[in-house]
Amino acid sequence: MSSADSPDSWAATAGRRPEWTLGVVNPPVFRASTIVHDSVAAMDAAGRNIDGQLYYGRKGTPTTWALREALTGLEPGAAGTMLFPSGVAALAAAILAVVRPGDHFLLPDSAYEPTASLAFGWLREFGVTPEAYDPLIGGGITALIRPETRLILLESPGSITFEVQDVPAITAAARARGVPTLLDNSWAASILFKGIPAGCDMVMQSLTKYVGGHSDALMGSVSATPALWPMLQRTAWALGQCVSGDEAALVLRGFRTLPVRMARHGDSALRIARFLDGHPKVARVLHPALPGSPGHSLWQRDFTGSSGLFGFELRTMRSAQGEALFCDPMRHFRLGFSWGGYESLIIPARAIRRLPQAEPAPLRFRVSIGLESVEDLIADLSDALDRV
Ligand SMILES: *Cc1c(COP(=O)(O)O)cnc(C)c1O
Repeated sequence: MSSADSPDSWAATAGRRPEWTLGVVNPPVFRASTIVHDSVAAMDAAGRNIDGQLYYGRKGTPTTWALREALTGLEPGAAGTMLFPSGVAALAAAILAVVRPGDHFLLPDSAYEPTASLAFGWLREFGVTPEAYDPLIGGGITALIRPETRLILLESPGSITFEVQDVPAITAAARARGVPTLLDNSWAASILFKGIPAGCDMVMQSLTKYVGGHSDALMGSVSATPALWPMLQRTAWALGQCVSGDEAALVLRGFRTLPVRMARHGDSALRIARFLDGHPKVARVLHPALPGSPGHSLWQRDFTGSSGLFGFELRTMRSAQGEALFCDPMRHFRLGFSWGGYESLIIPARAIRRLPQAEPAPLRFRVSIGLESVEDLIADLSDALDRV
């Protein structure tokens, strides 16, 4: 496949090198800890080039290399991709690749809660100073950059409140001051938005979500520019991060159908978002493709589509009773964390924010639209709205 092929054609075979697969369509599952070498010389030679050559199981096998190569192809300009046992592990390693005691670390106030907990809890204990910024700050981030700022995290759109960020403006401001940037690109799965071409130095995604796509595997990845790649790889290896061949094969299977699933997730979600937007009990729909959603014009400028994850707010204040009344009897939407799988999910969305908020929290939900019939999903939501 050449770069002139359409993304769908490329996704069908990405990472399938003949020397790794011997012609087998699905890269075989290598289960490996020990790899035996024919001689001391061969063992030493393998050790000198331990990436992409069988050496020891933790350094990977053709199954994990195939997945890594496919993921690198999603981010033009990336030098490589490392795999981690979860999205959170990927975020932690990417942060630790650059942040050191005494450094200042900027992250959006809409960051995924475990990311914020890592920054404001654990990293602070190691002498790092985290600071939350308004996700819609854009080029204004310059005013927050200090001499000791060592990393700016972006997440677009943000968790729970779905603010689309001005990624090119923030990365340009960061580059002007020599500060590396890390984008959590899980929502767009590096197909609706490409972070490296937008100026990011590292792009992570939770493969647990859209790339895996079947709610049966946890994994995360970080892709990096040539400048950041050695630091990222060194950190991942130093921390002993690796994934099994079995799980890499599951995620690679998801990868093959990522573009077609994403198109369906996006289309269904948009139709459902429009239904909610027109409903009298709904105060606001937080879907980047709808006008009125925070950062909508940036989504229009920078994204090629939308995924299946969005939020909505009712004209009612938040209460545990309202959440239960809405969610418990639902038939198609099941209560569960994570997203990006083929089954629709709902959670009461309780955003934790560090910056002061203008208004008290309304009754707010987050839905992950699966591959079921849109009519069934709308009927389920319509019944739920009738109940509250
Ligand atoms: C789920 C999620 C993660 C973490 O991924 P896991 O694979 O569950 O560890 C990171 N970022 C965002 C935005 C997420 O939604």
